[in-house]
Amino acid sequence: MTENIEPKRSLDFVRGIITEDIESGKWDSRVHTRFPPEPNGYLHIGHAKSINLNFSLAQEFSGKCNLRFDDTNPVKEEDEYVNSIIEDVKWLGWDIDDSIFYASDYFQQMYDYAIELIKAGKAYVCDLGSEETRKYRGSLTAPGQNSPYRNRTVDENLELFEKMKNGEFADGSKTLKAKIDMAHPNINMRDPVMYRILHASHHRSGDKWCIYPMYDWAHGLEDSLEGITHSICTLEFENHRPLYDWFIDQLNIHHPQQIEFARLNMTYTVMSKRKLLKLVQDKLVNGWDDPRMPTISGMRRRGYSSEAILDFCKTIGVAKTESTIDFALLEHCVRNDLNKKANRVMGVIDPLKVVIENYPEDQVDWLDAINNPEDAEAGSRKVPFTRELYIERGDFMEEPPKKFFRLAPGREVRLRYGYFVTCTDVVKNEKGEVIELICSYDPETRGGNAPDGRRVKATMHWVSASESVLAEIRLYNNLFNTENPDKVEEGQDFTANLNSDSLEVRINCFLEPACKEIEPGQTVQFERLGYFCCDKDSTAEELVFNRTATLKDTWAKINKK
Ligand code: ATP
Ligand code: MG
Repeated sequence: MTENIEPKRSLDFVRGIITEDIESGKWDSRVHTRFPPEPNGYLHIGHAKSINLNFSLAQEFSGKCNLRFDDTNPVKEEDEYVNSIIEDVKWLGWDIDDSIFYASDYFQQMYDYAIELIKAGKAYVCDLGSEETRKYRGSLTAPGQNSPYRNRTVDENLELFEKMKNGEFADGSKTLKAKIDMAHPNINMRDPVMYRILHASHHRSGDKWCIYPMYDWAHGLEDSLEGITHSICTLEFENHRPLYDWFIDQLNIHHPQQIEFARLNMTYTVMSKRKLLKLVQDKLVNGWDDPRMPTISGMRRRGYSSEAILDFCKTIGVAKTESTIDFALLEHCVRNDLNKKANRVMGVIDPLKVVIENYPEDQVDWLDAINNPEDAEAGSRKVPFTRELYIERGDFMEEPPKKFFRLAPGREVRLRYGYFVTCTDVVKNEKGEVIELICSYDPETRGGNAPDGRRVKATMHWVSASESVLAEIRLYNNLFNTENPDKVEEGQDFTANLNSDSLEVRINCFLEPACKEIEPGQTVQFERLGYFCCDKDSTAEELVFNRTATLKDTWAKINKK
């Protein structure tokens, strides 16, 4: 799969279809797409694939793209979700100020269309309950049976439907169904329900309606009413297309072309709003924007940029066949992006104190440090060197094995941008644990080079103890233990595969003082440790950082040519 590393520039099948339609002058060569989420949860990276596809198409073909809330189910929908979806789409970089629509604004029009179908003898009010409706529908191998209410007269249907609308019947006691064919090989065509009775308040229309349109009745109409040309959706809607077409043909209204593509699946995570909602409700994660979540808000909080996500979407492209993408590919795109953009700083997340015995007590030496070797314009900053420092505990070993080149008793190493230091003594507590190192430094090596040309085998990051900022660092690992969290033993659900080590919190970490200037949402590289994003939980006393990604790129390593 090596070729997948570079973005695909060739025409995919969706762009192929659109190009043909423009050339043939279909719909006057207009291109109008849409992204139609149901506001019943926060968006995930799968939705980002769909958003970026639809909005990119509009951009590339000088067309338009609508953000349309498919808000036809009052029970599960909330304004919180509407607002988060708007925020996410904007954050992904798309201008939607003039293109936000709501299916609920078409309720009256949909009702009028339903009346039209009743009048044409194409829809009827049915008294079968949901259980009976299911039985009458038949199966993949057996045809369905006609409902005993199928032959009601047009007048009777009009009267009953109006009474349904006026709230004269109880929830579930009646439905409006399309009169198509109970023996149709496609089960979706066997007299599907168009309206159900539901006395529930809607987040926008309030109590105006107590009948609500079913998804399959509403969806095609919404596209038609907005003049959508290419209705792009995921493969599971392929066998619903004949039904959308049927409704639109009966009503003789604008007819968009539905095009199906394979949904995004990724390893080590789940991509269903229902499952993500369960994680949130059962407090298995810390909210929708927990940085371990595959949600757009979670990824934003973790430090992924919208550019990295767009690059990822371009890299995976669109196809007709289902596949599962390695999560490491997304991280590869994130690292690529951050490597160019993130400033480098030094931070120690598992501190071990170092005292430089021959360094004056109150002296602070401000050393030059490069902000980003990948970006000359990022400039440089000053890093304070003092008598007491912190290094990473893992960078010292009292009895180093052969291949360990970092600090050890009697050994000299380079402190990045600083000096050569040599470990002269080790301080231990009663338990025999190393709690402090005594070192000496060579004043001649300021900036990191010895005038006599002598070499050291390791360069380590460090932070001044007196001139530092306190931080809490949150280290994230895969949310699930297994590549496919949905694969479970009988009687279990996907939560059985949650990784109990997906979050590791390190308190009492120390960062160089330049970190005080970092704002929540900004991502930096802690040298040698990874990319970290400043979290909104930061306070004046203590900064909080989320690990965005480690430095090691497993994807690039495995897929190197
Ligand atoms: P989920 O399956 O996660 O609950 P959904 O499909 O029910 O999501 P919708 O709000 O209906 O959520 O989705 C809005 C749009 O996003 C639809 O056009 C749908 O096809 C698309 N979409 C949803 N999941 C994915 C995915 N994993 N990859 C690509 N597109 C997706
Ligand atoms: Mg859906």
